[in-house]
Amino acid sequence: MSALSDVDPEVFAAVKHEEHRQQTVLEMIPSENYASAAVLEAVGSVLTNKYAEGYPGARYYNGNEFVDDVEDLARDRAKALFGVDHANVQPHSGTQANMAVYLGLINPGDTVMGLKLDAGGHLTHGSPVSASGKLYHFVSYGVDRESHLVDYDEMLSLAKEHRPKIIVVGATAYPRLWDFKRAREIADEVGAILMADMAHIAGLVAGGAHPSPVGLAQIMTTSTHKTLRGPRGGMVLCDEPYRRQIDSGVFPGSQGGPMMHVIAGKAVMLKEAATDAFKAHAHQVVANAQALAKTLLDAGIPLISGGTDNHLVLIDVRPMGINGRQAADALEAAGVVVNSNPIPFDTLPPRQGGGIRFGTPAITSRGMTEPEMQRIGELMARVLNAPNDEGVRAAAKREVEELCAKHPAPGVPANA
Ligand SMILES: *Cc1c(COP(=O)(O)O)cnc(C)c1O
Repeated sequence: MSALSDVDPEVFAAVKHEEHRQQTVLEMIPSENYASAAVLEAVGSVLTNKYAEGYPGARYYNGNEFVDDVEDLARDRAKALFGVDHANVQPHSGTQANMAVYLGLINPGDTVMGLKLDAGGHLTHGSPVSASGKLYHFVSYGVDRESHLVDYDEMLSLAKEHRPKIIVVGATAYPRLWDFKRAREIADEVGAILMADMAHIAGLVAGGAHPSPVGLAQIMTTSTHKTLRGPRGGMVLCDEPYRRQIDSGVFPGSQGGPMMHVIAGKAVMLKEAATDAFKAHAHQVVANAQALAKTLLDAGIPLISGGTDNHLVLIDVRPMGINGRQAADALEAAGVVVNSNPIPFDTLPPRQGGGIRFGTPAITSRGMTEPEMQRIGELMARVLNAPNDEGVRAAAKREVEELCAKHPAPGVPANA
C-alpha cells in the first residue's frame, strides 16, 4: 500500500478505515462476504491493463496469450464446478449478467416473468426503475400471504395468461428453497425458457448445501461476490444450445472489454469453491442461519416464512414500532450490519422497508459456528426489543467487538 499512501493519502486513509470497519463489525448483509487474499491479489494485478474484447482464441486486439489462459481457466472451472455446458465469465456484475441474457435471448417488448420486488425479487426482475422493466414487459408472480412461500399456482396461471418467453426464478430476499422442477414444468407448459438467477445462493449450490437448478433451468446467472466469495462480478451458465446467444448478449450486446483482472479473481474463487473446505463452509452457512433463526424465534421475534432453508433470515420489524431503516440503524450502532428490506405485502415505502434482511455467509467465513450464532441472535433481539436504548446498544457493541477480535475476517488486513 505504500505506493497508494504516497500518491493519494486520502484514498489510502479511506481504505485503512474500511479495513478497520470490516474487522470490527459483524457483517450480516447476506449478499456480502470476504474475498480471500489470493482473490484480492489477482484483482489487484496488471491484468487490468489489457484490452481483450471478444473471447479466448477470438479477440479483436493482439497480445492476449496470457489473458486467454486466465479466461479459459475461469470458464473450465465454472463448467466443472456447476456441471454445465458453457460459462460466460465476463459480466461485470449480476445485473449485467441478467441484462445480457435478456438482450441475447429476446426482443424489447417481449414478456418475461419474475418474482415481485416485495416478495424478494431483484430490481433486474422487471422493476420499473430498472432497464429490465423499461425494455421488457414483465409480469410478476408473488408469494402466499400466509406461508410466504412462492405461489407456483399463481406462476402457472399467469404464465398461461401472458405466455412469457422467459420465466425468471431466484431472489434477493427469499429464505426458502426454490422448486426448480415445478418451475421448469410451468415453463415447458407455456414454451418459456427457465432462467435461474442464483446470485445469492450460488455458493450454497456449489458447496452442495442447496439444490442445484442445473439440468432444470436452461440458463443460470449469478453474481460472484456473494456466497461464492469471489471478486465483485457476474457469470452466466447455460446449456449448449444457448451458448452463442448468451455470448453475444454479453459482448458485444451489453459490454465492451472484459475486466481481465476480475476474471482472474473469478478463476481463483472457482478453484477455492471446488475444495472440500468450501463444501464444509457452505453447509455451515446454512446450519448457522438455522441456529440464528431458532435463537430469534426463541426470543419471540417472528420470522418471514417462519424460518430459513438457506443463508438468510428476514424479519418484520413493524410490530416493534419501527421501520426497517430504524432497525438497521439501531443494529449498526451495536456493530451488527444488516439492511432494511421490503417484506411480503409491505405497507411501507421501499426506502424504509417493513423489515430487515440478514444472513450468515460473512460471519461463517470468519469461522463462527452455532455457539456464536446463539450469542449474536440474543444480542440482536435485545437491541431490536429496545431500539432506542443506548445502554443496550453499547453493551451489545462491546460483545460484538470481542467476537470479532476472536474471529478475524479472512483477507482483511488487521492494521488497526
Ligand atoms: C445481487 C443480485 C443481483 C445483482 O447483482 P449485482 O452484482 O449487484 O449487480 C441479481 N439478482 C439477484 C437475485 C441478486 O440478489
